[in-house]
Amino acid sequence: MTGVIEVRDLVVRYSGATALDGIDLTVHENEMVALIGANGAGKSTLVKVLSGLLRPESGTITVAGRLSQVPEGREMFPDLSVDDNLRLGGWRNGRKGRDTTAIYDLLPDLAPIRARKAGALSGGQQQMVAIGRALMARPDVLVVDELSLGLAPLVVAALVDHLRFLHTERGLAVLLIEQNARLALDLCRRAYVLEAGRIALHGPARELSRDPRVTAAYLGGH
Ligand code: ATP
Repeated sequence: MTGVIEVRDLVVRYSGATALDGIDLTVHENEMVALIGANGAGKSTLVKVLSGLLRPESGTITVAGRLSQVPEGREMFPDLSVDDNLRLGGWRNGRKGRDTTAIYDLLPDLAPIRARKAGALSGGQQQMVAIGRALMARPDVLVVDELSLGLAPLVVAALVDHLRFLHTERGLAVLLIEQNARLALDLCRRAYVLEAGRIALHGPARELSRDPRVTAAYLGGH
């Protein structure tokens, strides 16, 4: 079976230091996959290569269809309205002016705040806008970088519900890149564990969440 994202034998070095060392990773159509790893494991480097910001030294990345990103830190334009921020998601993908109505149908919480400035929103609301903006490109696969960062558990739970809905109802494939291993393993069916630039473990999330190496290092021993 081919994947929407296929990464093969990917190597990335920063002036000699190896950040990613032979990464193989696949996200299949309509699949939700997690990539977990500690600080400095190489998650951000992988995101940069996936989005074309960084050239790998060797290896290949194949994306079938359109890939859209929800970036770490959300990267809003704070002085622009929610609606204008959404439109910029279309613009970045050559679809300037695309109607935002579909996004409010998918993410109804955004409708009542559409005229507010993004800079005045809560972190959770901004993350929702970032998801909506990524959806403007009508992606086949969404790369979500640190969904939960800096957000309260209840807010994260609401965002997770939306992602799950987009996945199950719309068939969106998702690569969830997360420091919060518990969240990622609960949400996704399959997961990869990145350690010091290598895939240390991968498999069904349910099995990984019971693996003593994962519980000790990423789940606080539980
Ligand atoms: P974090 O969650 O802290 O962002 P990460 O898993 O995303 O961590 P990366 O930022 O991808 O990890 O870093 C992987 C390795 O590459 C680290 O050892 C880091 O120090 C190194 N690195 C990252 N960016 C650069 C750079 N621009 N120049 C040199 N080394 C870098």
